[in-house]
Amino acid sequence: VKFELTILGSAAATPAYGRFPSSQVLNIQDQWFMIDCGEGTQMRLTDFHIPRNRINFLFVSHLHGDHIFGLVGMLTSMSLVGRTQAFTIYAPEGLAEILEVTLRISQSHLTFPLHVHVIDTTEHKAIFENEILTVYTIPLKHSVPTCGFLFKEKPLLPNFIKEKISEYNIPVAQIPLIKFGADFVNEDGTIIPHSELTIPAPPPRSFAYCSDTMYFPEIVPHIEDVDILYHEATFTTEQLENAAFGMHSTATQAAQIALAAKVKMLVIGHISARYPDAEATLAEAQKTFKTTFSGLDGTTFSVPYRR
Ligand SMILES: [Zn+2]
Ligand SMILES: [Zn+2]
Repeated sequence: VKFELTILGSAAATPAYGRFPSSQVLNIQDQWFMIDCGEGTQMRLTDFHIPRNRINFLFVSHLHGDHIFGLVGMLTSMSLVGRTQAFTIYAPEGLAEILEVTLRISQSHLTFPLHVHVIDTTEHKAIFENEILTVYTIPLKHSVPTCGFLFKEKPLLPNFIKEKISEYNIPVAQIPLIKFGADFVNEDGTIIPHSELTIPAPPPRSFAYCSDTMYFPEIVPHIEDVDILYHEATFTTEQLENAAFGMHSTATQAAQIALAAKVKMLVIGHISARYPDAEATLAEAQKTFKTTFSGLDGTTFSVPYRR
């Protein structure tokens, strides 16, 4: 059962050295979610064989161009192939206006319903929920209203041990009740406890997206123990002043957040165009947090169930 993050763009501000601006897709149990939509995102979907028609939800961290300038092009391309399925966006205030003006003046007509929900970037709160997951906002500290997102699977039901059917003569109709926590009572009145009939489900998996932001330890309680933390690392420490000026983070700062939150894996990206490759930021982050990876365009990270 999938829990897979694919990086579509890993560049900060401007495309450079084969890196496109920010965008990612998350595949949870075969449901697709997009996070940010920088310029060229639709080309990246093609490059990395992501089924764009399966994406129905987009979460936008903030309205800087490197996170949204791919959106209008992607939406109009979806229309060109006759999409009818609704597309729903969660974004800070202002995106609906950008889309409305751009689509109206360019006389672009969408073939599908477009819903834009305004999110409050100052609160940590659930903004989306369906049968498999909940998405929470994570307030970040950047030069415009910005929030990250925590994607958290819902707890799974425990697995019923099939061999117990014949062992205790359990009617099949009882199995769903047992999975939901009931004990089984035998004909002679013996109670077989739920714990003897089931194997606990693996813990739910989670992914936190934190970009763009300066070093902001207030996020730590919201991202503790996540399986994957994506945290921007625009610069190395050498550029500490630049990082502070643009309200971005260094690789060391991203790693410090990962360490404090005891995450399982740190993925860094949003790399400044001053770096020809991701070696410097990666090496710096790994000094503080060993389990760090570069989230370069086209990289996929999978989270298996923990047993
Ligand atoms: Zn950015
Ligand atoms: Zn930004």
